[in-house]
Amino acid sequence: MAAPYRLISRLALVTGGGSGIGRAVCQRLAIEGASVVVADVSEESANETLRSLATGAGGAGGQRHVALRVDVSLKESVEGLVTGIQCEYFRPPCVCVSAAGITADDFLLRMEERHFDRVTQVNLKGTFLVIQAISRSLVASGAPKGSIITVGSIVGKVGNVGQGNYTASKAGVEGLTRTTAKELSKFGIRCNCVLPGFISTPMTDKVPHKVIDKITSMVPQGRMGEPAEVADVCAFLASDDSRYITGASIEVTGGLFIG
Ligand code: NAP
Repeated sequence: MAAPYRLISRLALVTGGGSGIGRAVCQRLAIEGASVVVADVSEESANETLRSLATGAGGAGGQRHVALRVDVSLKESVEGLVTGIQCEYFRPPCVCVSAAGITADDFLLRMEERHFDRVTQVNLKGTFLVIQAISRSLVASGAPKGSIITVGSIVGKVGNVGQGNYTASKAGVEGLTRTTAKELSKFGIRCNCVLPGFISTPMTDKVPHKVIDKITSMVPQGRMGEPAEVADVCAFLASDDSRYITGASIEVTGGLFIG
């Protein structure tokens, strides 16, 4: 299918852009014409994504991508990212996809406090820091509109054995998304959440095969999802095609846990 070029002349920030879903989102937004800031804790993987991005949509020179390092769990690092974007582009990104995330699984009875703290620091606090910083710069610049996309998880809704920290962080991301939508609509900023099910990425590569087989057998569509299938939804939410959607959570699960 030909790219619809819905994001020509838009600037987009993608955290966690060095891998998996974040990388696929960077690639899809670039194909649609956006200039993309690939932000990741790993500079090397961010640069690898950068090298894979399309350019030239909407005419030569119309698109310029950069890779920047950020640790989303640290306020100073997120502020440095926003300053770096301002120095490169002289404007804030009007599209922001907060995809950085980690797991550190264990059963509730065994989970160490530091693993609970680290997962919530990256997944929930990191999302908060990024969307707060980007919203502030959008409001301050008087930008007419913005689209913020958070990445939750279907397990934030239904729970998952061994993921008390992760499911709590992802449920928090959904709540944060809804509040952000309510507070920022008056500034023309929308905020929506995608809820992936089980998607083939380095994150799920760590899950034992027999667990993956069990999960796959529960998915009505009978397979894991691909990062590009989540990226397609993010591109829709980034674009004006979703202009009357805010505060929504969209499941991208192949039907897992319907209802
Ligand atoms: P992934 O391949 O591991 O990608 C996550 C990226 O985030 C990695 O590049 C990682 O860098 C980066 N990152 C980790 N900590 C960071 C930090 N403090 N600051 C900035 N970047 C950081 O995982 P994924 O599966 O694509 O996950 C992307 C998002 O989707 C996550 O929020 C995840 O929770 C969510 N999700 C995934 C699934 C799934 O089935 N895959 C399902 C539901 C939700 P390093 O690799 O160097 O740590």
